[in-house]
Amino acid sequence: LYRAKAKGKNNYKFYVKNGQAVERLQLENDLRQALERGEFFLVYQPKFYVCDGRLGGVEALVRWQHPQRGVVMPGEFIGLAEEMGLIIPLGEWILRQALRQLKAWEEAGLSPVKVSVNLSGVQFYQKDLVVRIAEIIREEGVDPSLLILEITETVSMQNLDYTLSVLKKLRELGVQISIDDFGTGYSALNYLKRFPVDYLKVDRSFVLDIGRDANGEAVIKTIIALAQNLGLKVVAEGVETEEQVRFLQALGCHLAQGYYYSKPLLPVELADRYLAQPLSV
Ligand code: C2E
Ligand code: MG
Ligand code: MG
Ligand code: MG
Repeated sequence: LYRAKAKGKNNYKFYVKNGQAVERLQLENDLRQALERGEFFLVYQPKFYVCDGRLGGVEALVRWQHPQRGVVMPGEFIGLAEEMGLIIPLGEWILRQALRQLKAWEEAGLSPVKVSVNLSGVQFYQKDLVVRIAEIIREEGVDPSLLILEITETVSMQNLDYTLSVLKKLRELGVQISIDDFGTGYSALNYLKRFPVDYLKVDRSFVLDIGRDANGEAVIKTIIALAQNLGLKVVAEGVETEEQVRFLQALGCHLAQGYYYSKPLLPVELADRYLAQPLSV
């Protein structure tokens, strides 16, 4: 990468052989300012009890309203935010925002709903994670039992003793824990047994195998049986078809989330469609 002076005094044009590098630099610059400019927002995807279709909670998912590019998906900026260290303030903003949303729904008299918030691996390994989360919950004045923190299986299995101690402390705050993208990493089953967790989220790749691949189906069956034996709830993610719902129903899978039910929604849409209205007098 080199820069050449173009026309004006402070006017530099960047030249690179690899267009992707420029793209990345621009994204990085934009990302650095996005938080203070208020360009992030959250959408909420509902999940449902498979047996009777009742609402079982919502997952907060971050979006970036880029001034030129439009809405940018987390797959395109979370990794970068992690590398830049921005994920720490961004992650705190996301948690605070999700809790404020709960509060707003509560104040509107809507029935309480649990919200899941994703923690990145970088956040999980942040030194004062538990203290920060405790502070944010206290400052926002939300019942901690309404908060579920999602960490991926891969992150949770990196350092088993560390994970065990952090999860214990988080549980002491009164929040619940969900292991996300379960089945894609290498679980140490002996530790899974000891981890104080509440939910296993079966990765979408196995749900996609329903009706298509017997091995994938076997993995889902095994995860559901494992969860039942450990006393955990199973959530299937990325459920798109009725066939998948029926398969999950037959196995006694507790909860499902996916486009079959609903895509992630803006708070107003979510409340209108799924949160019970207060009784009119
Ligand atoms: P995840 O936590 O496993 O979230 C599920 C992803 O699957 C979401 O994508 C959701 O929109 C998508 N999805 C849900 N149902 C379906 C379906 O039926 N079919 C298909 N094809 N996709 C479905 P999204 O919002 O793009 O997020 C992708 C990943 O980015 C998340 O995976 C999570 O790892 C990360 N992410 C999203 N929001 C946050 C956040 O606030 N903080 C952190 N640290 N990571 C986040
Ligand atoms: Mg998740
Ligand atoms: Mg997931
Ligand atoms: Mg996933």
